[in-house]
Amino acid sequence: MIPFSPPRVDDKTVEEVSKALLSGWITTGPRTREFEQRIASYCGAEKVLCVNSASAGLELALRWFGVQAGDEVILPAYTYAATANVVIHCGATPVMVDSNNDDFNINIEAVKRAITPKTKVIMPVDIGGMPCDYRALHLLVNDPAVKQMFIPHTDNQRTLSRIMILSDSAHSIGGVYHEKKTGSLADISVFSFHAVKNLTTAEGGAVCLNLPNVFSSEEIYKQLNIKSLHGQTKDAFSKMQIGNWEYDIVEAGQKCNMTDIAAAIGLVELARYENDMLVKRKAIFDAYSAAFAQEPWAEIPLYSTSDRTSSYHLYLLRIKNISIAQRNDIINKIFQQDVAVNVHYKPLPLMTYYKNLGYNMNHYPVAYDNYSREISLPVYYNLSNKDINMVIKAVKTAVNQVLYNIDA
Ligand SMILES: *Cc1c(COP(=O)(O)O)cnc(C)c1O
Repeated sequence: MIPFSPPRVDDKTVEEVSKALLSGWITTGPRTREFEQRIASYCGAEKVLCVNSASAGLELALRWFGVQAGDEVILPAYTYAATANVVIHCGATPVMVDSNNDDFNINIEAVKRAITPKTKVIMPVDIGGMPCDYRALHLLVNDPAVKQMFIPHTDNQRTLSRIMILSDSAHSIGGVYHEKKTGSLADISVFSFHAVKNLTTAEGGAVCLNLPNVFSSEEIYKQLNIKSLHGQTKDAFSKMQIGNWEYDIVEAGQKCNMTDIAAAIGLVELARYENDMLVKRKAIFDAYSAAFAQEPWAEIPLYSTSDRTSSYHLYLLRIKNISIAQRNDIINKIFQQDVAVNVHYKPLPLMTYYKNLGYNMNHYPVAYDNYSREISLPVYYNLSNKDINMVIKAVKTAVNQVLYNIDA
C-alpha cells in the first residue's frame, strides 16, 4: 500500500531525539529556543513562539487580541475544523465565506462583504500550501471605511486600531508570496508541525509575529509565552537559575508549550527543509501535473504563479464534471489498487456541529464544487519514482473505469 503522507524519520532524527532525551532537559528549553530562532530567520518573522500545536497557537493569538463573545472572525468554509473551533473556544462567532475556484483559498470579495462592526479578525488559510492574497487583505483591513467600522474593546485592539490578519499557515511553511515567505505575510501567522504536515515535530506549532511597529514583538513574545504556561511568569528552565524559584500567575492561561524532544525533531527537519524536502515535493507535484496535463478530465492544481509559490503540501487534483458519488467511487477504485488518497476538505457547513449551529452549505457554492470533485494524492519525502508512477496509473485507471467504463 502506498500511504498518503508518512513522516520522514531516519537515523538523524533518532539521534537528535536521543540527545535531547539524554540531555537532562526534556521539556521547553534550549532546543525549543533555538528552533524558534531558526524558524524566524527561515521565514523572516520578527519573533517566533513554538507551541504544542497550531490549534493552540491560533487560540493563543485570538486570546491575546481579546477575541470574545460578541466578536466575529471571518474564515473560509473550506478548511480543517481547527480554524473555526478555536474561534468557538473563545466564545466568538466564526463567519464563514466562500473560496476561489482557481486556488481553493478564501475569496477576498466574499471577505469584504462579510465585514461588520463586530469583525475583529480575518483568518485566511493557505490551503494546500498556496499563499492567500495577503496584499489584498492588508489593503482591505487598512481601507479607511473598514477601519472606521472597527470597534476596539481591548488595549491590543485599540493599539492596532483595525481588523487583525491571523494567518492559518498550517500548510504553508516555505511558501512564497511576492518574494516573502509565509510566516512574514500576516500580523500573526501560525504553522503546524503535526505528523502529516510538511515539517513535523510529531505534534507542534509556531506562532510567527509581524505586527506593525506600534507593537514590540519582544514584548508580545513574552506575553504569549506566559499565556502558553498557565499565566505563569517564569518557565521551568528559568526557574532553575539561582534565586529564581518564585513566580506569579497573572491569568488563567493555556498550557501549550513545546517540548525540547519535539524541537529536536523540528531542528533536523528545518535544516533539510528548503533544499531537500521542498525540492522533493516540487518534483512530485510536477510529475503528477505532467502525467495528468493531457487528460481531458483532469483539472491540475495551481501551485505556482508569477508572484506566488506553494509549499507543495497537498496535491489537490480535481476531476471535471463529476458528482460526489462518482468522486467517491474513483477514490474507492484508487484504494483497491493499493494507493491511499484523501479529500481536503469536506467544508465545515457539512459537519454536524456546524450544521447544527445553522451554517448552510448552499451559501458556499464554490467551496462545495471544489470539495465534490477533489482528490488529494500522496506526497511525501520517501515517495519513489516507481511509487509516483503507481499513483498515476491508479488514478487514471480508476477515472477511466468510473467515467468511461473502460477497464484499462
Ligand atoms: C492541521 C491543521 C490545523 C491544526 O494543526 P494542529 O497542529 O494539528 O493543531 C489547522 N488548520 C489547518 C488548515 C490544518 O490543516
